[in-house]
Amino acid sequence: MTDLIVCTALGMEARAVARGLRPAREHSRVRVVRVGMGPDRAARAAALLPPAGALAVTGFAGALDDGLRPGDVLVATEVRSGDRVWPCPSAPLLAGELARAGLRAVTGPLVTSPRVVSGRDRRALALEGGIAVDMESAPLAAAARGRPFAAVRVIVDTPAAPLLSLATMGGAVAACRTLTRIGPVLARWAAATGPRRVLLASPRSFCAGVDRAIEIVERALVRFGPPVYVRKQIVHNAHVVRDLERRGAVFVDDLAEVPELPGGAVTVFSAHGVSPAVREEAGRRGLRVVDATCPLVAKVHAEARRFAARGDLVVLIGHAGHEEVEGVLGEMPGAGVLAEDEAAVEALPASLAEGRGVACLTQTTLAADEAEEVAAAVRRRFPGAEGPRDDDICYATTNRQRAVRAVAAEAQLVLVVGSANSSNARRLTEVAARSGRDGAPLARLVDGPGDIALEWLRGARTVGLTASASTPASLVDAVVAALGGLGPLDVEERRVTEENVEFTLPKEVRP
Ligand code: SF4
Repeated sequence: MTDLIVCTALGMEARAVARGLRPAREHSRVRVVRVGMGPDRAARAAALLPPAGALAVTGFAGALDDGLRPGDVLVATEVRSGDRVWPCPSAPLLAGELARAGLRAVTGPLVTSPRVVSGRDRRALALEGGIAVDMESAPLAAAARGRPFAAVRVIVDTPAAPLLSLATMGGAVAACRTLTRIGPVLARWAAATGPRRVLLASPRSFCAGVDRAIEIVERALVRFGPPVYVRKQIVHNAHVVRDLERRGAVFVDDLAEVPELPGGAVTVFSAHGVSPAVREEAGRRGLRVVDATCPLVAKVHAEARRFAARGDLVVLIGHAGHEEVEGVLGEMPGAGVLAEDEAAVEALPASLAEGRGVACLTQTTLAADEAEEVAAAVRRRFPGAEGPRDDDICYATTNRQRAVRAVAAEAQLVLVVGSANSSNARRLTEVAARSGRDGAPLARLVDGPGDIALEWLRGARTVGLTASASTPASLVDAVVAALGGLGPLDVEERRVTEENVEFTLPKEVRP
């Protein structure tokens, strides 16, 4: 049985990729097959390929898209020929791995043509949506018949520098070097293939506060028109921010970056909340504020004000620099202190609490078990300290942590989809890592399928999958789809509870 079959059209392509595959051949069965040039030869060779093993086609290709440059590596998301289309779902995984190997990887449709195309033909294929063209991938994709398939091509000519120009000849040497570097990546891809079970933690992805915050920006864009300024990331997710930017939102770190506009610029406060000082500044500047602070964060602000008003020392358990923490501390100048861990609590001078009560609050997105340890330290340090309330850590955080624990107990690998600056996502990853039974599962935070290192998937037959409260569900779907390109996938959901929380919109954007 062969683990990986790599097909190329030309001898020089075969030799180049075989050089890169040499180390992999020591511990896995790899065959490099020269299929010949053109779809007919490739089809004849495809009929003779071994029946098992991951199948990849690689070699040179011509760019159809003006944005591609010689040396770019195209990982086909699908292969097209005439009316037929063969999807290549693992493309984002391969492209991410190639990028980490230092190559300029792009993804997109690859068209197989029966002949070398130039001029008008090239433009016609580009208009049909292909971004690169080759002459062999389609018959090989057709021969894959359900086995993992990938088409990875190095761009050697472009619409501006077509085949056989001097630039192309020189580029072939560099392209061969690139093929050699593609070899080990294909070996890692093949090692990651195989049947797999995916356990979807539920609930996962957007919570009610994030849904509401995004809807507020969307409605503000419709009602007031762009630009709509948003102080800080509306929620901590790079994909959400990019999408809203495309639609006319302008994200700023500081209100000072919001320009003076007649009638006041429309400015949204993010879901994480702001301190009273920020509200006052917005008022002074005459900004038209729409407040997307999550009502559950606003509840912690209200508690902070209440404790501070009665003269308490308020210990806030949370992470320094997080916007929510800055906003809550801003509610209680002179009364609030931040404690990130037990050591920070022990280090608090006893004199701080002299002659007054002590209360405790937590950031809404902490790991419940860790926060309780710090809260216990507060109670030891200051006997009689009040709080934190059970629901300071919000329902969405608690539910997602329970759900990830349920899948981590069965998985060899847990993938948490979320951005690195999301507290929620980082805590989910930590909770997953602590939750395994026979040794903790490997738990990794990824922003999308391209961040998944193929090495993690090797031997991981059960993968737990979740997403932070700020991550769109579509990114989880994208990860599932990509994993499905590595072999048969059995997807099961582990639901620990139902969520039916909804928050009303602020009056400025209410229907
Ligand atoms: S994670 Fe919790 S506090 Fe944060 S926005 Fe969602 S519901 Fe609100």
